[in-house]
Amino acid sequence: MSFSDIPVDVGPVYEGERIRGNQMYVELGGPKIEKHFELVRVKAEKEIEDGKVTLIGPDIKDMELGSRHPIGILVEVAGPELEEDLEAVFERRVHEFCNFVNGIMHLNQRYTNWMRLSKTAVEKGFNSFQLLGTVLIRLYKAELPIIKKAQVTIYTDPKKIEEPYEMAMKIYEKRDERARSINDEDVDMFYGCVLCQSFAPTHACCITPNRMSLCGSISWFDARAAARVDPKGPLYEVPPGETINELAGEFSGVNEMIKKRSLGEIDRIYLYSGMEFPHTSCGCFEAIDFFLPETGAGHGIIDRNFDGVAINGLPFSAMANQTGGGKQMPGFNGISIQYITSPKYQKYDGIKAGLKSGIYTIVWMGKGVKERVYEYLPEDLRDKIATEEEVSDLSELPAWLENVGHPIVETEEYKVAVGGIEEEEEEWEEEGAMVPMGTVGMTIPGVGGAGGFKVILKNCKIHAESITIKKIEPKRKKK
Ligand code: SF4
Ligand code: ZN
Repeated sequence: MSFSDIPVDVGPVYEGERIRGNQMYVELGGPKIEKHFELVRVKAEKEIEDGKVTLIGPDIKDMELGSRHPIGILVEVAGPELEEDLEAVFERRVHEFCNFVNGIMHLNQRYTNWMRLSKTAVEKGFNSFQLLGTVLIRLYKAELPIIKKAQVTIYTDPKKIEEPYEMAMKIYEKRDERARSINDEDVDMFYGCVLCQSFAPTHACCITPNRMSLCGSISWFDARAAARVDPKGPLYEVPPGETINELAGEFSGVNEMIKKRSLGEIDRIYLYSGMEFPHTSCGCFEAIDFFLPETGAGHGIIDRNFDGVAINGLPFSAMANQTGGGKQMPGFNGISIQYITSPKYQKYDGIKAGLKSGIYTIVWMGKGVKERVYEYLPEDLRDKIATEEEVSDLSELPAWLENVGHPIVETEEYKVAVGGIEEEEEEWEEEGAMVPMGTVGMTIPGVGGAGGFKVILKNCKIHAESITIKKIEPKRKKK
């Protein structure tokens, strides 16, 4: 495969390239643009004109320096062995293949896709989407030889993108609906994915029916189809093996897989917990599930589109730094939106706290993500989860939860957390006028018993870009 006719270099070495605002020629998609998508469809051979690139809307050379535009990337492929189940896995490769281009930064997937093109690339002559389409077609056919023909349509016109965008949204929903139709108990095979190891070398996804990949783009069905056609590829079978802990979702086969794929860094995963031996996160999670120790066992969720600071005072970007990178990070978990609707959603944490299931640990959600999962939330919980519209100050959250009767307020952990803070405050008051304004009570997630440790900081001002909280496991023995 040659890219000698492409004015910039193309290859895996450019994955991970960052393009900052001042280096960028244009931005395509991303949180500031309403409708954008990327979609792969399997078609009959006669419907594909191999190598054809169609552009609907302005080309790069027509775009102003520093401007933002919608982007829709529709890749249509054909081949005798192709099936619809492979579409999602092929679609995930758009991310990787765009990032191969020196001068393109691509983030996320589906309708959260976000690209930047560098000024340097445009100066070198990468000034047309025809070139991007051609690169994609060549990479698809070279990297996935079962694809025999491919054509690409790129949409940049804000009006003309609407129809294909709606079509893409319907297809994503259809895929998700199917994925919700089976449970982990119904299958005897799980799957793994290491596509993100170029960014997070110790990260591997374990994909089960009840736990869609955290990028939200690969369901168990999709992973099964990919592993079937290319068993030695980045998606592979994971025999669950022995069930070590049913409630936590601990399986010997999953532990063996993560040990091997993380090169020994991680050897134990609870698939249904965000607090103990949680699944690792790379960087492309759709949402973050974060612990709110001030509410006992409570958690919050924000998705990528959340603008501003969450109830814990952190924006998505700061929490993403905590969460990602392929480490096990109790209390900060990268998840797919689909997983929130799963009956196994952090079930271990919920049951352990005395709740009906894991979803009952959720006390606060960004409004956007809540709207997306609202119909799948238990009816007796839906209206008891606060959003930024109801509560934006953490100190006001307990009173709000008590007022609506969120089930978490009945748990021991909640009573200790809320009561504990009151006790401390009384203690400070007795100390008189020296009580500092900046006294902070903080529970370290996942450490020790129900409430973790409490760290009291007196007379202290802290300024930090980020805080890293790591679980220490002194008793773990290496085999
Ligand atoms: Fe694969 Fe997981 Fe990365 Fe998605 S997030 S591409 S499933 S490794
Ligand atoms: Zn990833």
